[in-house]
Amino acid sequence: MVTLFEKSRGPGGRLASKRVDSIPGGGNAVDIGAQFFTLRNPRFRALIDRWAGRESYTEWPGRLRYQLARGDWEDFHQATRYVGVPRMTAISRGLSVHLTVHSRVRVGRLVRSEPGWRVMDAAGGEHGVFDAVVLAMPPAQSRELLVASGCTELAGMLAADVAAMDPCWALAVYFQRPLGLACDGFQSRLAALQWAGNDTSKPGREGPGEWWVLHGHPGWSRSHSDDTEDTVAEALLADFRTMSGVDRVPDRMFAHRWLYARSSVRDGPGHYWSADDRLAVIGDWLTGGRVEGAFNSAASLFDQWVADSVIVSGPGL
Ligand SMILES: Cc1cc2nc3c(=O)[nH]c(=O)nc-3n(C[C@H](O)[C@H](O)[C@H](O)COP(=O)(O)OP(=O)(O)OC[C@H]3O[C@@H](n4cnc5c(N)ncnc54)[C@H](O)[C@@H]3O)c2cc1C
Repeated sequence: MVTLFEKSRGPGGRLASKRVDSIPGGGNAVDIGAQFFTLRNPRFRALIDRWAGRESYTEWPGRLRYQLARGDWEDFHQATRYVGVPRMTAISRGLSVHLTVHSRVRVGRLVRSEPGWRVMDAAGGEHGVFDAVVLAMPPAQSRELLVASGCTELAGMLAADVAAMDPCWALAVYFQRPLGLACDGFQSRLAALQWAGNDTSKPGREGPGEWWVLHGHPGWSRSHSDDTEDTVAEALLADFRTMSGVDRVPDRMFAHRWLYARSSVRDGPGHYWSADDRLAVIGDWLTGGRVEGAFNSAASLFDQWVADSVIVSGPGL
């Protein structure tokens, strides 16, 4: 029996969609975190199909481009890219209905309690005793919890990963009239803007206008981390205008700052597991990042548990 503690309103994390119901006919959610994901590992596909359902995601045949150093454009490499339907969080919501979920609980400390851990929230409230705990969060948040729980050795092993986690400013902009661009997403080489994607072009998000999601470069997002949302919007929109040739003021926009967006480490150990402590750490940053990486990290822990007879049967990973 698995219990999930999540500090925000619901599960999803960086697989994030923000509701925008207030825009009549303008779609009801915008993906402000992960833009698409891959399904290269057949075990990942099988897990989503079985537990979230085949209807929770579909292919996004978006026309995606990137800019070369000399300024001209190339198509993204051939690959099948997927999105949650009608929003990214359809997948995490689908998966989580099979678990006991305690949302709006920020775990602040774990207290040893033979043979496992007592889970305490940040306000000191108790949430029960569990025979093993898996931390599935960005490294800074895992390290903070490990330190608060007295697991200093494991916490120390995460130091390099904490430093390697890049922030990302995201800006969602809505245009009442479609922009009519020749592509659905592009990567830019300008100083601020790294990615711009037409969210409305993804299946299930159709509407009369267009929502675009703009992401800042990691380095730029870091050096502008404390800027106001207005300043960030101005810089990202200026680059968007230069890249797209669109000189229109958005009818609506909002910004979101991801403190821990993506890891610059391209490889990793997959997971950490202390059999003595019955404590594991997983996450995309332990496998080179990305949504599929988050799954691969969990799968590597699962495989070790099966090999070590920690579990004898499981959800068929
Ligand atoms: C802007 C952006 C763009 C991206 N683009 C892509 C992309 O196009 N393709 C792709 O594959 N990947 C992309 N990614 C990366 C992808 O989103 C992540 O790799 C993946 O979602 C990580 O999943 P995770 O479960 O490991 O961690 P997370 O999604 O970070 O989940 C961790 C969860 O733990 C919760 N939490 C943290 N601390 C506590 C606590 N103390 N108590 C309780 N809960 C806690 C958080 O609220 C969060 O919900 C992007 C990420 C960002 C931010």
